Amino acid sequence: MELTGQVALVTGASRGLGLALARELLRRGCRVAVCARDPEELERARVELARDGADVLAVPCDVSNRDQVEELVARTVDQFGSLDVLITNAGVIQVGPLPTMRVEDFEDAMGVMFWGVVLPTLAALPHLRETRGRIVTITSIGGKVAAPHLLPYDAAKFAAVGFSEGLAAELAREGVRVTTVVPGLMRTGSPLNAFFKGQEAREFSWFTVADSVPGLSMDAERAARRIVTAMQRGRTEVLLTAPAKLAVRVHGLMPATTVRTLGLVNRLLPRADAADQHAVRGEAAATAIGSPLFHRLIATTRRAAERLRQRPGPVASPAAVRSARSAPGEATGPGDVSSS
Ligand code: NAP
Repeated sequence: MELTGQVALVTGASRGLGLALARELLRRGCRVAVCARDPEELERARVELARDGADVLAVPCDVSNRDQVEELVARTVDQFGSLDVLITNAGVIQVGPLPTMRVEDFEDAMGVMFWGVVLPTLAALPHLRETRGRIVTITSIGGKVAAPHLLPYDAAKFAAVGFSEGLAAELAREGVRVTTVVPGLMRTGSPLNAFFKGQEAREFSWFTVADSVPGLSMDAERAARRIVTAMQRGRTEVLLTAPAKLAVRVHGLMPATTVRTLGLVNRLLPRADAADQHAVRGEAAATAIGSPLFHRLIATTRRAAERLRQRPGPVASPAAVRSARSAPGEATGPGDVSSS
């Protein structure tokens, strides 16, 4: 597929991987529409993306809201005249053991990462059928192998993988190619805007150190290049990072052993009970960690956060937005950032 002049819509593109994908698509000659919930952050991303005179449309939109998604697709087609590529990328992450998760955490995760895939896909399909276009679903290794302390995320990503793979099979004869992207850890800087529950600082520590280790995690810009190339070639599945490929193979061959091993991993993770259901944004959790060694270990995550506009960091709740916008020295304590 030649990308020059093609119209691409990327959800969740105000920061992180979505922003890297939008930059990459523009670099390859696409006209690009982007969305996210926070209008101010989205506008800042649009200004940056359009800096060299590129054609960029930014539409504030919650991908779990059907009316907003239909308007997003309609405005994209109004502005550019057609739609060739849809990338469903928007995501949220809550890290913590099961007792700390509320039903609402599962609903939020399904809203963004399952309905937030299904709704844009269904709204875009009539246009993509006309152009024989491409759909890219950004899922996760959590959608193939369920990691402990990520249950709402795992469940939503498994649902997204199922939808995307079935979609690829159904649309094949219509000439619309679907690529299911299954990334392992990528350095997008997103731990700073993720939510942590239970022993927040310890949860943030294991998650962010893993995110920072080269070899375990992949540079987000490299991931974006690989994803756009795979989409151009019409590949059905892309597994990103060697550890993610290994995990999928081992799980495929020995599912019960994999689950038992993850049970052992779970024993090493911080415990918490249902009294700890409040959520803390990663940036706030980081301020509670004094160890200079830890802050050196997560330096690559912080550098990625700078490149990919994670700060000041739009977040889901008004309380969290207040915390995110305070200066680092003023960062609030755990109880100040709640997703409830
Ligand atoms: P990120 O930096 O937190 O960015 C998430 C983006 O999604 C933001 O632009 C956010 O903006 C937007 N968003 C969140 N909820 C939304 C909603 N309801 N409607 C519209 N936009 C929404 O995340 P990332 O690390 O780049 O991750 C991108 C994708 O890759 C996600 O699907 C994630 O699960 C997947 N992934 C990431 C990793 C990793 O290691 N980072 C690994 C595997 C898979 P607003 O908050 O303003 O809405």
